[in-house]
Amino acid sequence: MKVENYAALEFPSRSANEGFARAAAACFAAQLDPTLEEINDIKTAVSEAVTNAIVHAYPDRLGKVALKLRLKEGGILEILVRDWGVGIADVEQARTPLFTTGSEERSGMGFTIMESFMDVVKVRSTPGKGTQVTMRKRISPRMGGR
Ligand code: ATP
Ligand code: MG
Repeated sequence: MKVENYAALEFPSRSANEGFARAAAACFAAQLDPTLEEINDIKTAVSEAVTNAIVHAYPDRLGKVALKLRLKEGGILEILVRDWGVGIADVEQARTPLFTTGSEERSGMGFTIMESFMDVVKVRSTPGKGTQVTMRKRISPRMGGR
């Protein structure tokens, strides 16, 4: 799939950057003329993925988080969220609804939310090396064209 446009951001795992990443993804997605619902789906999915990098990847230090935004042919928005943190030992278990290693304010629903709002969610992780979440969503063209 040809990449027609892209943007890349890098930031430390400070909680203030969750809102920044969410807004940046929404701004990038705007060129696809998404519906308000689609924009909200994208914001929610990015928020969950970036929050995971902030909360889980670097439990006791600040680390680097990368957000890559790609527009691929056919109106496909691809979003990569990557960290170089602790990694996930069992990705299948981590993706199970309600599974969490976090404190009681975490509900274990982050991956489930990403899956429900995006068409594709892939997770690649190596313990001690980090995690990469790849998400894709097709934004269908609206009347009037793009
Ligand atoms: P919620 O997202 O509902 O607040 P949660 O973050 O625990 O809770 P998920 O987002 O589904 O739930 O993540 C499930 C588990 O996967 C986490 O508890 C954590 O153990 C692990 N995990 C997720 N993302 C990462 C990451 N980037 N680095 C290390 N571990 C992660
Ligand atoms: Mg989470």
